Amino acid sequence: MNPAPRPLPHPYTGRFAPSPTGPLHAGSLVAALASWLDARAHGGRWLVRIEDVDTPRCPPGADALVLSQLAACQLLPDEAPTWQSRRGALYAAALERLVAAGHAYPCACSRSEIALAQAADPTQRHGELVYPGTCRNGLHGRRARAWRLRTDRAAPVAWQDRRLGPQQQDVQGAVGDFVLRRADGLWAYQLAVVVDDAAQGITDVVRGADLADNTPRQILLQRALGLPSPRYLHTPLVLAADGEKLSKQNGAQALDLRDPAAALQAAAGRLGLPQAAGSPAERLACWTAAWAAVGTACGPAHEPL
Ligand code: GLU
Repeated sequence: MNPAPRPLPHPYTGRFAPSPTGPLHAGSLVAALASWLDARAHGGRWLVRIEDVDTPRCPPGADALVLSQLAACQLLPDEAPTWQSRRGALYAAALERLVAAGHAYPCACSRSEIALAQAADPTQRHGELVYPGTCRNGLHGRRARAWRLRTDRAAPVAWQDRRLGPQQQDVQGAVGDFVLRRADGLWAYQLAVVVDDAAQGITDVVRGADLADNTPRQILLQRALGLPSPRYLHTPLVLAADGEKLSKQNGAQALDLRDPAAALQAAAGRLGLPQAAGSPAERLACWTAAWAAVGTACGPAHEPL
C-alpha cells in the first residue's frame, strides 16, 4: 500500500471527467466513485467536467444522461459542471504560449504518411504509431494540418502513482511529438485536460488505469506551460469477458439505474471496499470512512500499464 498522499498547499480538489460518447457503464462508475470518495475522504471539493472536445463522437443528450446517472448514484458535484466544448479560447491561448516558447510546431503529415515512415524504420515496427518528427524542423512548403508538442527531452518522465507506485515513460520513444490540435481543428484531449486541470485547481486526478500511460504526456505539457502537476491515482479497470477493458466497443451495458445502490456496490467491490447496506447515500458515507482510514482503497495494483 502506498503511503497516504502528502497534503498540498491548495485545498484538495478532485474531478470526474467523462467523455460523453455514451452513457456511463460499470467501468466508468468505478472511476467516478473513486474520485468522489477520494475527494470526500480528504474533506475536499469534487467537480464534474464533461470532456466533449471530440464533438463528433458525442451524441446529443449523452452529457445530460451521464449527469443524471451520477445524480441517481448521489455522486453530486460541488459546483455546476463544465463543458470542454465551451472552453476553446483557453486551449487556443495555451497553444499560442507553447508556440511562442518554441514547444509546439505545425505538422503537415497525414496518419498514413506517419504509418509509412514507421514501417520503413526497422527499429519502430511495433503496434503504436510513433510520430517520427518529420515536421520538427519545418514544413518545407507543405500545408500545416495539426500542431504537436516537441518532446525532444532525452530523459524519461518519472512520476509516482498513488496506487501503481513509481512509473516512468520515454514519451519521445513511446509516442513521439504528440498532437495538441488535430488536423480537423479539434483540440486534443492531452491539451484540454492539462489546461482544465490547472484552471480548475485540480490537486488530485483519480481515473481509470487505461489512462495511466497518458500521464507522462500531460506532465510534459504541464512543465512546458509552467503549470503544477496534480497527484495521480489510477483505479482498477473493469474487464469485459474477452479480458479487454470494458468499453462500448466490447458491449458494455449502460448502468442499470433501477437499483443505483447495487451499481454502486459493484463499483465499490472493484475498489476493494466492503459490502455496505442501505441507500446510496448511506453506503457512500460508509465507504468514505473506509477510504479515509487507509489513505486510498483500491487494493493492490494488478493491471499492467
Ligand atoms: N475523458 C476521459 C475519459 O472519459 C477521462 C479523462 C481524464 O480523467 O483525464 O476516458
